[in-house]
Amino acid sequence: MTKDIWKTITEVGMLLCFFLVCAGSTSAQSADFSLHRIGDDVWAAIVTDAGKAGGNAGFVVGDEAIAVIDTFEDPGAARELLAAIRKISTLPIRFVINTHYHLDHVNGNDVFANAGAMVIAHRNVRAWMRTENLKWWGDAIKPADKARVQSLKLPDIIYDDRIDLYLGKRLLKVRFLPGHTGGDSVVHVPDAQVVFCGDLLWKEHIPNLMDASTDKWVDTLDSLRNSHAQSVFVPGHGGVANSADIATFKGYLVGLRAAVRDAQRDGKSGDALVNAILPGFKQKYGAWGFFDDFAKDNIVQTAQELDGHKQVPQPAQAEGRQ
Ligand SMILES: [Zn+2]
Repeated sequence: MTKDIWKTITEVGMLLCFFLVCAGSTSAQSADFSLHRIGDDVWAAIVTDAGKAGGNAGFVVGDEAIAVIDTFEDPGAARELLAAIRKISTLPIRFVINTHYHLDHVNGNDVFANAGAMVIAHRNVRAWMRTENLKWWGDAIKPADKARVQSLKLPDIIYDDRIDLYLGKRLLKVRFLPGHTGGDSVVHVPDAQVVFCGDLLWKEHIPNLMDASTDKWVDTLDSLRNSHAQSVFVPGHGGVANSADIATFKGYLVGLRAAVRDAQRDGKSGDALVNAILPGFKQKYGAWGFFDDFAKDNIVQTAQELDGHKQVPQPAQAEGRQ
């Protein structure tokens, strides 16, 4: 009897803890994103795929200032994120870091710039933001969308390999890593063991490989995993991740490259190559987000990459390296 009562008390206690943990990890909800506390004053804004926000974002609160990582695809969602930050801290938002140039991560830049932030990114983000982002629409782009892309708030500060930012005592290490576009940054918060990966990591989502070099990307995932094994990772798409999720995503890219290479060795190309691979991938990855959007393109684009015909954005000339 005593044992049963103790068991009940323990179960109720565990249930209570579960609810408290849940309440603590998600402090704000919007139709477009949910906010998750993933470290001491470190927050991930995980988007709803069907919503307007596009790509995940996040922010870090230091003792003097705040940094925001990525700004969503929609300025309205960015304003909601700004309002959510303001409920947590009134410190100045000093920096926005764009992890790469794609529209779903930069279209709210002006919201935070108007609130006083400097935008920081890899050199190629500044070179590509207002031009390469036009390609998502093709020739059918509406004048209003074209005008929006051509007036996106560009980075104020650019870097080539690495830049360190301080929010007072708190350090953020921003590092260039290749693979997804050729202009991607990860943001490491060492004192919280958190790494914001932008679109270098996708959790249970098929990636966009339009600008990708998958050979370099596989190495990038190895180095992320090796240097931050115990960290919490925020992917560009999908929920908060750990190092096993990096291994799973790497497995997708390695498997894709191997399947395409095998089909090419069998003399396949075009639709025959796609049809040789897609059904098996559907079985394995059909439950991942964006399967219908990107899986076929992933095969076609990886075939182009492996036979040396893939077109990717050209890097900007670095100062002093012309
Ligand atoms: Zn994205």
